[in-house]
Amino acid sequence: MRLTRYFLPVLKENPAEAQIVSHRYMLRAGMIKQQAAGIYSWLPLGYRVLRRIEQIVHEEQARAGHIALLMPTLQSADLWRESGRYDDYGQEMLRITDRQDREMLYGPTNEEMITDIFRSHVGSYKDLPLTLYHIQWKFRDEMRPRFGVMRGREFLMKDGYNFDVSKEDALHAYNRHMVSYLRTYERMGLTAIPMRADSGPIGGEDTHEFLVLAATGESEVFYDEAVTELKLGARTVDYDDRACVAAICREFTSLYARTDETHDAALFDAIPAARRKVGRGIEVGQIFYFGTKYSEPMGATVQIADGSKVPVHMGSHGIGVSRLLGAIIEASHDDKGIIWPEGVTPFACGIVNLKQGDAAADAACAAIYAALGALGHEALYDDRDVRAGEKFATMDLIGLPWRITVGPRGLANGVVELTSRRTGISEEMPAEAAVARIAAIYAGV
Ligand code: ATP
Ligand code: MG
Repeated sequence: MRLTRYFLPVLKENPAEAQIVSHRYMLRAGMIKQQAAGIYSWLPLGYRVLRRIEQIVHEEQARAGHIALLMPTLQSADLWRESGRYDDYGQEMLRITDRQDREMLYGPTNEEMITDIFRSHVGSYKDLPLTLYHIQWKFRDEMRPRFGVMRGREFLMKDGYNFDVSKEDALHAYNRHMVSYLRTYERMGLTAIPMRADSGPIGGEDTHEFLVLAATGESEVFYDEAVTELKLGARTVDYDDRACVAAICREFTSLYARTDETHDAALFDAIPAARRKVGRGIEVGQIFYFGTKYSEPMGATVQIADGSKVPVHMGSHGIGVSRLLGAIIEASHDDKGIIWPEGVTPFACGIVNLKQGDAAADAACAAIYAALGALGHEALYDDRDVRAGEKFATMDLIGLPWRITVGPRGLANGVVELTSRRTGISEEMPAEAAVARIAAIYAGV
């Protein structure tokens, strides 16, 4: 993409309404625009990152054997009356009446709807296990929408639902979700720690939240520092192998890590003092096992081998897709702007032309841009006729992890400059070598 043809409305000044760094940078980098309290338009740069995050979520869900579908945002109140949640949910639910006076709602979550789909089409234990998920906009009329996309009213969530014939099978689904989430967050450059949590209005027995450590997080967290060192890394996971999946879950949940809701001071104090940490975290996901809480009242049953019908065991599993943008920026930025991890960056690299209009510099930039494109990496080429300092400031703000800087002086010596946004370290090399380096970096992502 050439910057002169793009839509990147960057702001020079810090917006007064933004209290935390991710909100400030998302507004300044032209990623989002607020349309009403807690409701945002996703401008092109923000939208690109949002789609990258969705893509990673889809890939990791597919790997775990979970199946994508798409349910609507609007739901009928009657469905929620079946589970009893229409009256229980309270003021966070946006209730709407259509022209026929039918009561509708903008879905805050989809347990009822997915249970309805299940009961309409599945009747035998032979069709199980089954996990269905979607990535869809949710609406929760939060009392205090704040911090930009972190606590919106309209927000994008991945929510998945497992259907199993027994508690044992459903707990395997729970574990599968835990492992697939760990991999999902790692691919986004995040350390998200599973912490035992309270189940809240979803209800249930087993639940973990995934928290990204950040000073601006809304949850207070207590943890053994050793938990932050754990990595799934490149190990292969056979999601059908119950013992293997359960062992990974044990590895990631054996060390103490809890939010203030479930904190146990006695257990915490048993951790060696040097590793005992209190901090704050951003909740980027949560998994639940809730048994037959919805399947029983809603009649979602399957016939088992002896011919009798049993309610299915279920769980629900959510990732805060739009909140993740804020969480990633909170975890990865400096005083100049965002630093995108390679896994989610909106463009693979930036190209800065130091002397727009210089025939050699223009041609070299065009050639680098084309070479990267041919390898499947889209660059953002700053071809504006502005000072180099302004181009650098824009690149630093929008946070592309790599920058190739091209100028007449370097070209006279046969080199361009490759700069890491994270370390600030620059290296001179021929243009072809810079392209090859970018390709090698992304081959490993
Ligand atoms: P919170 O405690 O932050 O209000 P929640 O526990 O009510 O969140 P869940 O029902 O667990 O939320 O939803 C799954 C995920 O959706 C959360 O882990 C979070 O990442 C995201 N999420 C929830 N509410 C919001 C919101 N208002 N804005 C953006 N993302 C949200
Ligand atoms: Mg939650």
